Amino acid sequence: MAKRRYKEEFLTVGFTKAVRNGECVLCGEVLSNESMKINKLDRHLQTKHPLHRDKSKDFFICKEESFKKQCFDGGKVFKGNRGALRASYQVSLHIAKAKKPHSIGEQLIKPCLKDVCLSVLGEDAANNIESVPLSNNTVASRIKDMSADIQKTVTEEILQHK
Ligand SMILES: [Zn+2]
Repeated sequence: MAKRRYKEEFLTVGFTKAVRNGECVLCGEVLSNESMKINKLDRHLQTKHPLHRDKSKDFFICKEESFKKQCFDGGKVFKGNRGALRASYQVSLHIAKAKKPHSIGEQLIKPCLKDVCLSVLGEDAANNIESVPLSNNTVASRIKDMSADIQKTVTEEILQHK
C-alpha cells in the first residue's frame, strides 16, 4: 500500500500532520491511507463536525496549535484534556491488552457503547460516543503511541537509576 502523503491544503478541512500524518485537529481521528484525499477528509469534516464546516484556514491553524499542546502537554499523550481523546486511548489499551484486532473498536465496541448509553443514559450520551475516535487506524496509532511512551518511560527510568 502506498504511504499516505500529506498535503498542505488538508489543513483547510481540519487535518494536520503535526502529531501524526492526517489526523483530525477536532477529534483526533486518523483516517486510512485511502482516505487521504481532500474530498474524503472534507466529508469527515462535513459529517462529524458540521458546526465547523465553514471555518477558515486560520481557525484550523489555531485548532492545530491547541491540538499539539494537548497531545504533547508534559510530554505525555495521556494528558489531553478532552474526554473523547482520552477515551480513545483507554479503549485502544483494552483492545491491545485483549489482543483483539484493531477493527473491533469501530465494528463492535462503538456500537455497543452507543446502545448501552442510549438505554442507560439517553440520547445525548449516545450521540457523544460518536465523538470518540475508534477507527481501525486510530486504534493502531494509539497503541503505537502508548508503546512508544512506555518504552520512553522505561528508558528514562533506567537512565536515572530509578
Ligand atoms: Zn474529526
